[in-house]
Amino acid sequence: MNEILNQISERISKIESENRKSNVGTIIALADGVARLSGLSEAMYNEMISFDDGVFGIALNLGEEEVGCVLLGDTSSVREGQEGRTTGKLLSVPVGKELLGRVVDVLGRPLDGKGEIKAKEFFPVEKIAPGILPRKSVNQPLQTGILEVDAMIPIGRGQRELIIGDRSTGKTSIALDTIINQARINKEGIESGAKDFRPVYSVYVAIGQKNANLARTIQLLEKHDAMQYTVIVAASASENAANLYIAPYSGCAIGEWFMQNGMDALIVYDDLSKHAAAYRQVSLLLKRPSGREAYPGDVFYLHSRLLERSARMNEENGGGSLTALPIIETQQGDVSAYIPTNVISITDGQIFLDTDLFNQGIRPAISVGISVSRVGSAAQIKAFKQVGGTLKGEYAQYKELAAFAQFGSDLDARTKATIEKGDRLVEVLKQKNNSPKPVQMEVAILWTLQNGFLNDIEVKKIADAVKSFEEYAKAHGQEVLGRILSEKVISDGIAAQLKSLCEAWKKTFI
Ligand code: ATP
Ligand code: MG
Repeated sequence: MNEILNQISERISKIESENRKSNVGTIIALADGVARLSGLSEAMYNEMISFDDGVFGIALNLGEEEVGCVLLGDTSSVREGQEGRTTGKLLSVPVGKELLGRVVDVLGRPLDGKGEIKAKEFFPVEKIAPGILPRKSVNQPLQTGILEVDAMIPIGRGQRELIIGDRSTGKTSIALDTIINQARINKEGIESGAKDFRPVYSVYVAIGQKNANLARTIQLLEKHDAMQYTVIVAASASENAANLYIAPYSGCAIGEWFMQNGMDALIVYDDLSKHAAAYRQVSLLLKRPSGREAYPGDVFYLHSRLLERSARMNEENGGGSLTALPIIETQQGDVSAYIPTNVISITDGQIFLDTDLFNQGIRPAISVGISVSRVGSAAQIKAFKQVGGTLKGEYAQYKELAAFAQFGSDLDARTKATIEKGDRLVEVLKQKNNSPKPVQMEVAILWTLQNGFLNDIEVKKIADAVKSFEEYAKAHGQEVLGRILSEKVISDGIAAQLKSLCEAWKKTFI
């Protein structure tokens, strides 16, 4: 008898504890995607809270009296007085190759109408970044296909390189060109059947963009056959601030899956200015105290904990990598504003885009003097160092001399030569968007410049000359281009082949 009583009381105690697990609260206030609930005394920080009609939120503010919760996705059905339940789960998104080719929201749900995503795994959107020990220094290139970047601001796998500039200066174009270039390399690499070939998968996170813009991006990637290697995570301008705030972390989790499984991935955050603004909005709605420029005090941590998750893992940890290209929009070129300085300090370099250059038609409008890659040439193939190693210095010298030369003073022969070469270099570096170049072609083009083959061509004809050289090399120089790609260094043999290619081409170009 006693035993039965014991058993019964044991069962009852179990039932009670199960009940306690799913804690229910009531929405007492609701505004702009932020709900305040009373009665959710046992919610955890960052826990998913479920509402009616499949709506989810995240508990962000844990107060004594109430819990502040941001709502995700379509929240039009949520009303004051509705109940919210704890789920015991941290916010997670589906991850894996099943997401390639798809456009998803911040919860990983399809937005492209292409049917259900049958992912086998889920990753939490917030994760602690890998520590120091499993990491390895960045030493493998990630080619953007943009000559100016690959030559002077080389990016390596696992690096975080900021793209920063005013409105409409070509920031997104640099990131998309990189994705397109990786897709081309992937395709060629997979077709070649080389065993050690490592494709790079891309995640593009669109934060607060107009839907029309996003549609254009998807079209562009489809046109270049790049969607099959890409996942797009979108929180558009029409969604509430909470979605914009979570989007980069969701994208990061999707990218991290590739890294943790020994693969290489690239992630673009377009852009983190809008992300910071969304976080500011969420924080104000949650009534958190605000600091500089009305951002909450932890806005630095917002971006550092995100970007630290990009890394290059060492061999014992699978050797994968996650390269990040965060984008920041500046106002009137002011890089010393709060958010830009924060993100500059937590990245490994920046590509700075300048409105004046853009308007002068110097595109990509990269301001070479203040653009850097702190990983530098460790991530370049040797051939690039051979043709481009001195380029940045030469460019700086040219800029300085060109400013003097404007005054029309008599110039000595050396100064004149530096300026003439610089004028040609500027032309060579101009490149239309959506036309990334293979690395072997980039090296060959710089070789022609460095070896004087462009000296006797008028500056205004250089763009035509480069185009004509590219076409000629594609038709007649496949062997030497292939050697540059596979041998990665310009040997005497390759130099001789390049020389005869250039001589033959020059005869066709008048
Ligand atoms: P936003 O501030 O709107 O996000 P953005 O800085 O991302 O703009 P993009 O959208 O990449 O800039 O480019 C702005 C415009 O400039 C686009 O019309 C694009 O086609 C054009 N553009 C960008 N790069 C180049 C280039 N290298 N050559 C010619 N046109 C370019
Ligand atoms: Mg843009």
